[in-house]
Amino acid sequence: MTRQEIRTILTAPSADALFKEAQAVRLQTKGTGVFLRGLIELSSICLRDCLYCGMRHSNANVRRYALTDDEIVACAALAQTLHFGTVVLQAGENERLWTRERVAHLIHRIKVETGQRVTLSLGERSEADTAAWREAGADRYLLRFETTDRALFAHIHPGAPTTGDHPRIAQLRRMKAQGYEIGSGIMLGIPGQTLDSLIEDLLTFQALQLDMVGLGPYLRHPETPLGQGDQDSEVPVSVDFTCRCYAVARLLLPSANIPSTTALSSLDPEAGRIRGLSSGANVFMPNLTPAYYREGYQIYPGKICVVAPQADSLSALHDTLHSLGLHHIEG
Ligand code: SAM
Repeated sequence: MTRQEIRTILTAPSADALFKEAQAVRLQTKGTGVFLRGLIELSSICLRDCLYCGMRHSNANVRRYALTDDEIVACAALAQTLHFGTVVLQAGENERLWTRERVAHLIHRIKVETGQRVTLSLGERSEADTAAWREAGADRYLLRFETTDRALFAHIHPGAPTTGDHPRIAQLRRMKAQGYEIGSGIMLGIPGQTLDSLIEDLLTFQALQLDMVGLGPYLRHPETPLGQGDQDSEVPVSVDFTCRCYAVARLLLPSANIPSTTALSSLDPEAGRIRGLSSGANVFMPNLTPAYYREGYQIYPGKICVVAPQADSLSALHDTLHSLGLHHIEG
């Protein structure tokens, strides 16, 4: 797809034909199965100060917590009981808390005690760290590069370089060479984001040959610098636009795993996940973090806890999948 073709698709009055095409490709490459991957939010103690994130270090109103290793393994055991197949370990960026050795030990325990595949999402880390975790058995790594626009990236990530390699894209390349399945993505509608830069982001997914693509609307957090400023963006924050981007990602990377994200469901708790799974997405990430801690991981207000691990909400999810002609598969 050319830049102009993507622009036309993203700005056309209706996207019905696009959604149909993306679903057809998704059915061809991924069938009717939907992976449920258990999200475990390890900790809200973040050392970074990203301008958009409610969990940023400078926000004094966050309830900070960190799960113990035993709690994390118990969450992974729940994923095993629910036949998920994969857990995603995500945390605020913190090298002191999530040391190379501790994470390697955790990966080993999860693999041995629960048999789940492990996706890591621990932010920017050294080549030696990610090599050790791969060695310990980590399968995948999720690191959103957020934007290819270097000035915007540096603006929203204090301390990030404006020249040289994009630090996150460089890390993704290194991890691909280390044998990880790599996932990345962006937020849609960051103040200052342009349509041109978004198109560049989408083409970069393809250039990186991503295994997973995570796309979600930017949701303003009033206790962040970005949430308090001017909200101007050429990129709309809407369910329709987010789904258009899922569809384009599906066409660019027919075999990728594309989650219908929590941010999309938070934007529209009624219809978000149905719309996402109807426009090319094939993954859903139920939150397995113990309920007591969840309130601490408020990266944006109104973040819904999409599926508590209770049987009734899981069966509601299964019903939704069936109504769309889809079904849960393990993996
Ligand atoms: N620290 C790790 C990292 O940066 O990859 C993982 C945690 S971070 C909170 C996970 C993702 O949350 C970010 O990559 C970002 O895209 C998303 N996020 C943070 N604040 C957000 C907001 N206000 N609206 C939407 N998504 C947000």
